[in-house]
Amino acid sequence: MIRYTKTFLILFLGLPVMLLGKSLVLTTEKTTYELGGYLETLREEGLTITEARQAAIDGRFASVPTGTPILPFQDYWLRVDLDNQYTYTEGHIEWMLQFSRTWSQVEVYFEDIDGTLKARKSGLFTPVSDRIFKLALRENVVKFNLAEKQQSTLYIRLRSDRVDVPPTLSVQLSPAEEFLKQLKRKRQQNSFFVGFVWMMTLLSILFFFQSWSKVYVFYSMYLIGVSTYASYVEGDLPDYLINLLFPEHPQYIFFVKLIVYLAMVGYLLFLRSFLNLKEMLPRWDKIFNFTIWMSLPLLLLDAFLMMQYNFSSIIPDRVTLSYGIYFAIFNLLFLRSLYLTKDPRTYFIIAGICAMSAGIILMVIARLQSPEFSVAHLELGIIIEILAFTLGLAYRQRLTERERFKAHYELEKSQFIQQQKQAEAQRLREVDELKNRLYTNITHEFRTPLTVIMGMANEIDDERVKKLINRNSENLLRLINQILDLSKLESGKMNLHLVQGDIIAYLQYLTESFLSAAEAKQIRLSFYPEVPTLMMDFDEEKVQLIVYNLLSNAIKFTPNGGKIIFHARIQEIKEGQQLQLKVQDSGPGIPPADLPFIFDRFYQVDNPMVANQGGTGIGLALTKQLIELMGGEIAVSSEEGQGSLFTFFLPITNNEMKLEEDWKP
Ligand code: ADP
Repeated sequence: MIRYTKTFLILFLGLPVMLLGKSLVLTTEKTTYELGGYLETLREEGLTITEARQAAIDGRFASVPTGTPILPFQDYWLRVDLDNQYTYTEGHIEWMLQFSRTWSQVEVYFEDIDGTLKARKSGLFTPVSDRIFKLALRENVVKFNLAEKQQSTLYIRLRSDRVDVPPTLSVQLSPAEEFLKQLKRKRQQNSFFVGFVWMMTLLSILFFFQSWSKVYVFYSMYLIGVSTYASYVEGDLPDYLINLLFPEHPQYIFFVKLIVYLAMVGYLLFLRSFLNLKEMLPRWDKIFNFTIWMSLPLLLLDAFLMMQYNFSSIIPDRVTLSYGIYFAIFNLLFLRSLYLTKDPRTYFIIAGICAMSAGIILMVIARLQSPEFSVAHLELGIIIEILAFTLGLAYRQRLTERERFKAHYELEKSQFIQQQKQAEAQRLREVDELKNRLYTNITHEFRTPLTVIMGMANEIDDERVKKLINRNSENLLRLINQILDLSKLESGKMNLHLVQGDIIAYLQYLTESFLSAAEAKQIRLSFYPEVPTLMMDFDEEKVQLIVYNLLSNAIKFTPNGGKIIFHARIQEIKEGQQLQLKVQDSGPGIPPADLPFIFDRFYQVDNPMVANQGGTGIGLALTKQLIELMGGEIAVSSEEGQGSLFTFFLPITNNEMKLEEDWKP
């Protein structure tokens, strides 16, 4: 609508003016003039200014009807008559012409105050050194002089060297003072936003040094991307960078646009690290990864197209735009999954993304309503987003600190418990030692009176009483000796007295001494050696104690009419040979639950069939200790109701003195 009105105005009002060749009168009433209606144009290649002036005299300049396409790679000459009627100030000698940004070469010829012809240059492809006015380098601004009351004709040569950016013949003229005032105002508007983002960037970098957390690196990346892009779009940054980095090729400033990829990638990395996405949403984590890596080839393609098409921004912008659209859709879909997690951390992110999206939508609406749209909505959206993200970071920081505190507390607690346990164990050990000592001492004291009793018993005439006393005393004495042996073994005071002899004969002799006890219960007790003789080192007394314990247990627990087999064989092992001995009975066996404890001191099976057999739970503990003292091992296997099998080994050595054997049953 607006466009048609404009065309109408130009056609019906502007045209007659142009035909009259009326000059543009500059007065104090206006500060900005659009030259459009006063321009005459000539499209001809390679003219010099002198030739162009001649062409004007020849009447070859004409007005261009609106809507005529302006083509790239062609010279356009413009001329306009100016009449400066500014009277009240001296300041308006300097004037500014602002051309559309799309022209890559701009030359303005004017008659200076002293009457000489001057040329001024601008345009995207024009080196900074060729320009007089070195501000707003991307804006195609030319400064020229026009004194009070002066009438002058401007000749302008324009050329666009970029394929896809159609230039327009719109030229604005304003007094330099006014132009600078407006430029300043425009940049100030943007500076609040840019300043805010830079400040947040700084804050994030500071936070990084305080916490050494990666999440701040990514957040800073994002913020640097946003702030650089914002300062690139509007602000002093392009002027500064062009002057600093490539004054010969101002068009290279387009490369700074690529920073938008840093913003997007920084944003993705930040979200991934902030949410710990790998654990929260592993599938999305993969998509994030893909999106992050995808930006690299796109960035390269973007840069390549930029150079390929001579910095025609529209073609490479398609790549940026596609990534941007993908990025937006990606964000919206991600928002949904994020919402479903119900994790409180996500609320900050959701709020941030919503604020930014709302900003984008409002900006697009504003753009649709007028081409002169403002980015204020987007900026506000981004500010809210950054605030939400920063709050999220603070919240996350608090969570981490709380967790760290908790972990620290747990550690201290467990250390304390550990110490307590150690102290308790130490105390138990001490009590145990004391108990042992007391036990041993008392037991020791039992022995003397017992010997006296046994001696005195022999003087009793009543044989039955004498036998009773003797048998009980012997049992008591054996028990006492066992206890003393055990405590000796445990304190490491028991020594081996090895001699070399035929152990098979000795075992035979020991077994025979149990025959009468076995017979009393009609138990068949048999000794089966696989070899007739075996010369080896052994401690007679200890072997006797071992065999005594195992056989007497077997006899004790095997019911009447049962069977006990004592078996001996030589076993080949890696280190040489060992003697393997087995005591197998047909008794009640040992419950599986008790098996692991059978060799513990004072351990007795809590079994009604067995409990009434008496005993103290010392025998097997002593047996095991004795076998181990001799360098052997003992193991038990049993099935309840099927009997028990004790297997033990003794190493076979032949280092000791030979013994005269006189074992007889
Ligand atoms: P105790 O003096 O009680 O016999 P031991 O240390 O010799 O002490 O044996 C510990 C426990 O092992 C016994 O109380 C008994 O329950 C179990 N036990 C030992 N030998 C046998 C066996 N041959 N058959 C069944 N149970 C046995």
